[in-house]
Amino acid sequence: MISLRSLQAQTIVNIPGWEPYSFRCVGEGSSGGVLMMGGVTPLITRGKNKGRRNYRKIDNTTVREVFVKDSDYHAFCEQWSKDTGNCIKCEGEGKVLASWHHIEGTVYVPCNACNATGKV
Ligand SMILES: [Zn+2]
Repeated sequence: MISLRSLQAQTIVNIPGWEPYSFRCVGEGSSGGVLMMGGVTPLITRGKNKGRRNYRKIDNTTVREVFVKDSDYHAFCEQWSKDTGNCIKCEGEGKVLASWHHIEGTVYVPCNACNATGKV
């Protein structure tokens, strides 16, 4: 599943297939937030990177910049949790990222906010 940040940006941009590819923290305190750049990119159809986004073939007509204030992001998460019944901390997955290692890969631990159920 895509992150809630990406989901919120998609909702604002409202272009099918649009996804952010860059995230930058801007400002601080009550005016702080994340500036996202994104666009519609085709998926790689063959080779070891199959299924990943092909940023070399990005559709330049769909490139947009979206700024989401942290307070708006938290409001979006609360609403999303209400609508879906899912846990915000693990975004409904029941697990959260513990570490990443280039050989061992991604390590998850059970989410302690929802007892690994993914639900609130
Ligand atoms: Zn959880």
